[in-house]
Amino acid sequence: MTDHGRPASARAFERARAVSPGGVHSPVRAFRAVDGPPVFFDRGEGAEVVDLDGRRLLDTCLSWGPLPLGHAHPAVVEAVREAAGKGLSFGACHAGEAALCELILEGFPHHERVRLVSSGTEAVMTALRLARGVTGRSLVVKYDGGYHGHLDSLLVSAGSGLATLGVASSAGVPAALAETTLVAPFDDLDATARLFAEHGSDIACVALEPLPGNNGLLPQRREFLAGLRELCDEHGALLLFDEVISGFRLRFGGYDAMVDLRPDLTTLGKIVGGGLPIGAVAGRAELMDRLAPEGDVYQAGTLSGNPVSVAAGTTTLRVLRDEGAHDRLEELGRRFESALSGGPSWMQLQRQGSLNWLYLSEGELPRRADAIAEEAITRFTQLHPRMLAEGVYLPPSGYELFFLSTAHSEEQVDRLAETLLAQVTALD
Ligand SMILES: *Cc1c(COP(=O)(O)O)cnc(C)c1O
Repeated sequence: MTDHGRPASARAFERARAVSPGGVHSPVRAFRAVDGPPVFFDRGEGAEVVDLDGRRLLDTCLSWGPLPLGHAHPAVVEAVREAAGKGLSFGACHAGEAALCELILEGFPHHERVRLVSSGTEAVMTALRLARGVTGRSLVVKYDGGYHGHLDSLLVSAGSGLATLGVASSAGVPAALAETTLVAPFDDLDATARLFAEHGSDIACVALEPLPGNNGLLPQRREFLAGLRELCDEHGALLLFDEVISGFRLRFGGYDAMVDLRPDLTTLGKIVGGGLPIGAVAGRAELMDRLAPEGDVYQAGTLSGNPVSVAAGTTTLRVLRDEGAHDRLEELGRRFESALSGGPSWMQLQRQGSLNWLYLSEGELPRRADAIAEEAITRFTQLHPRMLAEGVYLPPSGYELFFLSTAHSEEQVDRLAETLLAQVTALD
């Protein structure tokens, strides 16, 4: 394997491979979906990262979403320093927890309680257990192309043919557990209605990203989301919006308000930790108070409400709220979108605010996973090393979104668009 002009990264990868599976601690980082060895990062500064070989890259991956203010925002770093100086973890109550929960509830005013956990995965895991505990039912509906972390219950894909019960999409997930998950396509309310017709009295919860962003960006029609709300109400199931990516990304709060819908439970992560590990479940008191110690649904965490994570999250949310950050992100997004026009007809951008998905295929932008053309992904695979050579770090998979931050300057956004246009055109 060539080192792509990054000998220090290549050496670091060899070293990592000797001690860790695939040399990584989360699979997509291994660059298996693109050409070349992974880039090892040394540091991040605003919109840029510097790799181990000392090369400066414009970062559009931004840790997959937790950094709407860019890398090492001074106020966030200062808050983290201050918190760290007072102790890294207590495993006991501290006043910072309520401060973060208050900010989260300010963004989600229809919810009344928040439980903090340590990752998005844990938040979804907790929300599903709560939904099952509250309803006394066991089935969960998820959507093809939705991602909710690596919890067993949702590492499930659609069964073949007429089967509606899910099959495990990872080894190690017991079939009996996979069968408690039903999988439906996005953008097809009838398909979910059929699941309810057949299993309605056993469905605890419908879980989805209201703005699916982990398998391309697949915006859903409001009618679809509103239809799910109605089906849940009709059948006594809970609606869970997984807003781990979309929460606080497009506005101060969730995507739920943008479609004027109220889920029963919301899961958060990424931005609410400002770059440090965190997750959160929010909901009405009547539901949330079923969690231990108030209620009978057990959940716990040694590092839950970690003071350093809480400080990073609280400061990130305050800056987003108080500094007009979302208007700025939308402005940068619009600028990027218009700078990107004029490329080949098969170069399309699906954009919502600072969330972007490059779709390198003709035709209608997809709303469901099975409508994504394979060529779009193949082209992205070829594009990635070219962009890297030009000093732009895109997420290493054509299914992934890329992000702008308030740290991106107009000049950097223009350069990103120009480089993309030139490199995409060169693929032709
Ligand atoms: C990232 C993500 C998760 C998982 O969060 P982790 O912190 O990686 O466990 C869950 N749901 C959605 C929608 C996500 O984007």
